[in-house]
Amino acid sequence: MIYLDHAATTPLDPSVLEEMLPFFGELYGNPSTLYSLGQAARSAVDTARDRVADLLNVPSREITFTSGGTEADNLALRGVLCEVRPDRRRLIVSSVEHEAVLDTAHFLERHGIPVTVLPVDGDGTVQPDVLRKMIGTDTALVSVMTANNEVGTIQPVAELANVAHEAGALFHTDAVQAVGSVPVHPAELGCDLLSLSGHKIYGPKGSGALWVRSGVHLFAQMTGGGQERRVRSGTENVPAIVGLGKACELANARISENYAGKLSALRDRLIEGVMSAIPDTMLTGHRDLRLPGHASFCFRGVEGEPVLINLDFSGIAASSGSACSSGASTPSHVLSAMGIPADTIKGALRLTLGKDSTVEDVDRVLGILPRIVASLRSLQRG
Ligand code: PLP
Repeated sequence: MIYLDHAATTPLDPSVLEEMLPFFGELYGNPSTLYSLGQAARSAVDTARDRVADLLNVPSREITFTSGGTEADNLALRGVLCEVRPDRRRLIVSSVEHEAVLDTAHFLERHGIPVTVLPVDGDGTVQPDVLRKMIGTDTALVSVMTANNEVGTIQPVAELANVAHEAGALFHTDAVQAVGSVPVHPAELGCDLLSLSGHKIYGPKGSGALWVRSGVHLFAQMTGGGQERRVRSGTENVPAIVGLGKACELANARISENYAGKLSALRDRLIEGVMSAIPDTMLTGHRDLRLPGHASFCFRGVEGEPVLINLDFSGIAASSGSACSSGASTPSHVLSAMGIPADTIKGALRLTLGKDSTVEDVDRVLGILPRIVASLRSLQRG
């Protein structure tokens, strides 16, 4: 099989599994206990925290483990907004955020938090000037993702964070898609909170973390035994945390080997091949400021789903957009926010490359995809 859906999830790296396995077996201790079995688990959790912190280049004490990207986003938004000054309660999010942010914003809105949704341009970019016009001194938090899961567009996070800070607001970024693909360092991005997820970087599903800059107060959303410095109670999922830590260590090594450079060369071969072989195709997302492994298109006059089924018959796994919304009857909120007509959105296809993708994989897709689209178009016309 040729797997081209790395934005949905990635396979577990064998060395990640190897590090996790003892914690499903003989090393079953609870990290909060004082005897050596518990302390072995505690030390594994500490090592994992150091590895996540190394990838982000932040102090280890600023990392909180969560059950994934969704929980990290929820903790960031709810944790900041559940107790705010009456004159500074507004939340600003972009219109192309993942549902983990957008639905949380809508939940908070239903419970009295004023919410502003930022528009994007045709590339899916939030323009800093637009934020500058919409932000006021009533804003507590701005949340804009580092890179988009459907179209791969990388946001000008440093500039956006600067605008937020000028207005006295905090800045959160959902870096679930960017971490592991490109360098993500909160100090350079200038953000205050950042979410990441293990299963997008060859780690286990159900693992993730929220980085919170020291000095930012976060209200716990999970109360109980006081784990994770009282921010996120619950006995630690030690195997998942260990797996996340190892995945971050591997991601750090890959980034220093110019991983992004190799991946973007493959991506460009794929984009150029598709655009030249399939007429009436639109590249969605920014042409250059996009994730290195991310290619996404809309083919006019076809539906994405039959394209996916035909690709699957040929042994190629791809996606019509976000994995979370596939199968949904409503058109993608991301492509809609970018101003793409509903008819065109129907023909959306996302191909996302990963660390084991090859030129041969790309060329096989380029050999098959144009024929699939042409035959579906002729069926449609016939
Ligand atoms: N944020 C973004 C941008 C994502 O792409 C995803 C997953 O698709 C998430 C958040 C949710 O992460 P998780 O699956 O770890 O809950």
